[in-house]
Amino acid sequence: MRIITTVAEMAAFPVTCRTKGKTIALVPTMGYLHEGHLSLIRQARAKSDVVVASIFVNPTQFGPREDLDRYPRDIEGDTARLEQEGTDILFLPSNQEMYPAGYQTCVEVEQITKQLCGAHRPGHFRGVATIVTKLFNIISPHLAFFGQKDYQQTLAIKRLVQDLNMDVDIVVVPTVREPDGLAMSSRNAYLSPEDRKQALSLYKSLKCAENMFVAGERCSAALMKEMRRCFAGLPDVEVEYLACCNGTSLEYVENVAHGDVIALAVMVGGTRLIDNVVL
Ligand code: AMP
Repeated sequence: MRIITTVAEMAAFPVTCRTKGKTIALVPTMGYLHEGHLSLIRQARAKSDVVVASIFVNPTQFGPREDLDRYPRDIEGDTARLEQEGTDILFLPSNQEMYPAGYQTCVEVEQITKQLCGAHRPGHFRGVATIVTKLFNIISPHLAFFGQKDYQQTLAIKRLVQDLNMDVDIVVVPTVREPDGLAMSSRNAYLSPEDRKQALSLYKSLKCAENMFVAGERCSAALMKEMRRCFAGLPDVEVEYLACCNGTSLEYVENVAHGDVIALAVMVGGTRLIDNVVL
């Protein structure tokens, strides 16, 4: 695996690949890789000739009181994992390389980023849209892989690609979970053993709603009422949002239908976790 740290070197690479007719896949990450990330890499490996993974803890998508400074990092472990999955290139730029002095441009996807995480993390999706645009421009991938766990992010990126006429196919990969159901996340590393037990409430509440839906319940309020019961009595858990939304527009729905999404964000002992289920 080749490790590239400069934009100039990274940008030169796809030119030669494309002239040889090779397809390039990009898997953007913030590192501290787990099985969720690796499933993206495996899908990318299966669908393209050249797999590029990026690791960049993007400062512009973190709010001032968020966890940028303590975000977990393990470049050595990540490199070994990527290598093992047959990744061709790791793009590992510095902040200076991505946002040099004088930098002043950002990309905003306006509507779909307003609710859910967007309402609670001002500027987050602007940071995401900006860094993804930069990565697409530098790496020129034919395909880019994103996880369903960040459902709103996948919609924002699809919108971005369509609106700005970018020639890249977005592939969404299902959420990879721990054996007990907790969605894998780099931030799970923050959870104490007690937090870890209480964190299972996210999955339990989504499963509860999904089972009710399968049994015929369609009323969003009824689903969300039962979901909230899964968090009752958990001292370190605080629900940030819980919503039933149209799976394409993310508009809130009073009655759910196939293809709608139930999404939630929950603070567990100070760690913010998100998860969702598509009905
Ligand atoms: P991150 O490093 O958290 O920014 O995530 C990088 C990519 O991995 C994003 O597209 C995420 O949606 C995806 N991802 C994170 N966790 C999971 C998971 N448990 N299952 C599938 N994809 C995931």
